[in-house]
Amino acid sequence: MEGELRPMDAEQLREYGHQMVDFIADYYKTIENFPVLSQVEPGYLHKLLPDSAPNQPEALQNVLDDVRVKILPGVTHWQSPNYFAYYPSNSSVAGFLGEMLSAGINMIGFSWITSPAATELEMIVLDWLGKMLKLPEEFLSSGQGGGVIQGTASEAVLVVLLAARDKVLTRVGKDSLKKLVVYGSDQTHSALQKACQIAGVHLDNCRLLKTDSSKNYALSPDILCDAISQDMSNGLIPFFLCATVGTTSSATVDPLLALGKIAKKYGMWFHVDAAYAGSACICPEYRCYIDGVEEADSFNMNAHKWFLTNFDCSALWVKDRNALIQSLSTNPEFLKNKASQANMVVDYKDWQIPLGRRFRSLKLWMVLRLYGVANLQRYIRNHINLAKYFEGLVTGDSRFEVVAPRLFSLVCFRLLPPDNDENHGNKLNHDLLDAANSTGKIFISHTVLSGKYILRFAVGAPLTEERHVTAAWKVLQDEASALLGSL
Ligand SMILES: *Cc1c(COP(=O)(O)O)cnc(C)c1O
Repeated sequence: MEGELRPMDAEQLREYGHQMVDFIADYYKTIENFPVLSQVEPGYLHKLLPDSAPNQPEALQNVLDDVRVKILPGVTHWQSPNYFAYYPSNSSVAGFLGEMLSAGINMIGFSWITSPAATELEMIVLDWLGKMLKLPEEFLSSGQGGGVIQGTASEAVLVVLLAARDKVLTRVGKDSLKKLVVYGSDQTHSALQKACQIAGVHLDNCRLLKTDSSKNYALSPDILCDAISQDMSNGLIPFFLCATVGTTSSATVDPLLALGKIAKKYGMWFHVDAAYAGSACICPEYRCYIDGVEEADSFNMNAHKWFLTNFDCSALWVKDRNALIQSLSTNPEFLKNKASQANMVVDYKDWQIPLGRRFRSLKLWMVLRLYGVANLQRYIRNHINLAKYFEGLVTGDSRFEVVAPRLFSLVCFRLLPPDNDENHGNKLNHDLLDAANSTGKIFISHTVLSGKYILRFAVGAPLTEERHVTAAWKVLQDEASALLGSL
């Protein structure tokens, strides 16, 4: 790219943009040829790239060559059809196009006036999605509540925790911060604990209540009530409860209705984290998993996980937007404008941590419009059926067991220790995970439940078909045979 700098030359964008789209399309076409889990060693890239930036411009082709030769080997391919780790992080043509458009417009939509369409489209698509999930009307923008796109579920839980904290402190006085207590379970995502650290909630007052296999690792309302009573008798102030629909370890669903009633009784903010499993609830047959969401003050679902919307897009709905605004708004002179001062508009800067925000609603809008609700439901059902299929394969091999009920597209399973020695079982499954992932043919992840090392098989990459699940199971069986044979 010799000569003068032309950073916004439309014709150059056309030419290079086409090259880049071709590059990405070819990547998707050949994605199965890469090891799913990157096999490089720490620090590998330092050895391949120069120590300082080039003084003179380089050609795009040279950069793309470097991407091919130096970058892609260090990429773990989350879009591979053989990716079954953690939870999925979907890409799609529609999501990609939305990202592209958002990058092209590149506005910063902190206040309505900075791009009215960005604020209004976000309100509209979150109302659409809220209706698809049959969320109670109070979560829609027509009333006192509404939806907002956060970057991640971690930010979602942080902003509602801050809103809840300031709401209760207004009532009991600022000096009581150290008395505030937060409740979740030992299966709640670590984002809750991080939110407590940031919000100044004392970590000793972050109750991650114990769960066990008898209730499939769901938070027990009785245990919650006991904990609340004990805390109150010690002069502490319960103020926030986080329930999960689709926990990170085993996709358990907490009993929302019972938990919500307890939260209400004690005047606590009730947040429902459905980051992964919320997507499934657009299907009528899975909507039951968020029954009880009527009791919630806030609800969160990650469109960037299992909903074909490229990262990042975490949808958060609240019933009382003023609680967020009370906690997070500022009104400096340099941002004052007629629409905001007249209170006629939503200014999303007051619903989030940063000031600046991207036009993220575009990609969700693209996904909803280019695919439609019926296709999205079919997409979810297909993955759940593939997970059922995998579950059947595991059940059919007596060397393995399924260790938690499969509700969505996650199967938790393990290789049984031949000698019933649990310590050996943990090492065996750890070795199986390592061996399977080292083949580069699949990528799965693990968790620990009741002290047992468990393998997680999460279906949800857009390119995954039945043949990939069959092949993945073959890898796991072969590696298991090798491990068991060498004992
Ligand atoms: C993935 C996940 C999170 C964290 O999501 P981020 O968007 O990366 O912050 C939180 N809670 C649950 C239940 C999750 O599955």
